[in-house]
Amino acid sequence: MTAVYPSVEQQTAPADAGRTDPLAWLAAETAATAAAGLHRAPIARRCDGPAGDRSQQGLVDVASNDYLGLSTHPEVIAAGQGALARWGAGSTSSRLVVGTTQAHLDFEDALADFLGTPAALLFSSGYLANVGAITALAGSEDLIVSDGGSHASLIDGCRLSRAQVVVVPRGDVQAVRAALAGHARRRALVVTDSIYSIDGRCAPIAELYDAAQDFGATLLVDEAHALGVRGPGGRGVVAEAGLSGAPGLVVTTVASKSLGAQGGIVAGPALLREHLIDRARSFIFDTGLNPAAVGAAHRALEILRADPGLPQRLRASADLFARAAGAEVSESAVVSLIVGDPAAAVAAAQYCRDRGILVGCFRPPSVPAGTSRLRVTVRADLSAAELTRVAEVVDTALRRVGAR
Ligand code: PMP
Repeated sequence: MTAVYPSVEQQTAPADAGRTDPLAWLAAETAATAAAGLHRAPIARRCDGPAGDRSQQGLVDVASNDYLGLSTHPEVIAAGQGALARWGAGSTSSRLVVGTTQAHLDFEDALADFLGTPAALLFSSGYLANVGAITALAGSEDLIVSDGGSHASLIDGCRLSRAQVVVVPRGDVQAVRAALAGHARRRALVVTDSIYSIDGRCAPIAELYDAAQDFGATLLVDEAHALGVRGPGGRGVVAEAGLSGAPGLVVTTVASKSLGAQGGIVAGPALLREHLIDRARSFIFDTGLNPAAVGAAHRALEILRADPGLPQRLRASADLFARAAGAEVSESAVVSLIVGDPAAAVAAAQYCRDRGILVGCFRPPSVPAGTSRLRVTVRADLSAAELTRVAEVVDTALRRVGAR
């Protein structure tokens, strides 16, 4: 059968035909978001220069995830520049075509060695690593038990997998056991963050691993906020629990936080790496991680390895800040200070910014309704005096908006 297509004249509407704008609904939607105190554009402002420049301008950055200050370390920058000069401005294709350089492979080996796993695979972001790992490990015949505190990238991986997903209350090991008990699916996967990204608290990784093992399930742990922060030499909570390289354990983490660069990592058995290369769509169909990011992140990892005291100093600074700011507890570099109302949280963040302190401000959907908050990320390169000042300003901000 021959298809009959309209002529070009027929396809083109007259210029004055009173065209409608199908995106007109965006105005009402944005106004409704703003009315709920959840519009983000005013706070998503431009940042002039990297963290180093910000401090030269008298600004204190406790909003970024540059926990160890490595994003502006001269050797990290030089390594990024070296990789840029050597490999070019981009990877030029997916990893499977011609986008894998020796720099990618060397960094993967270094990460596997550091994390105590046989192999590691590099994705172009932590988000894509989580989505890729989960969708490659679980499909429509499987069960995923997802911790209620999981990062959005874990949640989106669960959604894309088409597996049956059971969300359990955050850190609730008994609920994980109950969800796994007697399930009738082909396989089961448990997913959780080790450090919850919003409040920096630590998940019960050893207990979750035991639960997964008891029911023959795989445990995937996102160590994005634990790398360089917790565990021996900054190897993370899995290492702290003595589980590095344990069977049935998959670790994901990022180069975009303590390593100050960019990139996502999945670490585990050699066959897991092979399987991800075959099946993880966010690996297969994505251009390989930028060589400059690979070079920079690799150097940052070497700096971390050469100075195992760095994570300890960071944790000491986080404890100091948490005490000074009257926070409940510090279990990582992230300290969360609840405000409640989103507009009040924005006002408190603005008060801090007006005094040169860049704090994170988290509102729904990033946090549950009624728990909008300031999120302070302590950095190893901030002095005790700077941290004490930040704590004082944050405390005043919280009092002014009635959160204290
Ligand atoms: N996992 C967690 C826990 C995170 O906090 C983040 C970043 N916000 C990611 C994954 C995603 O990492 P990336 O920014 O490298 O995509």
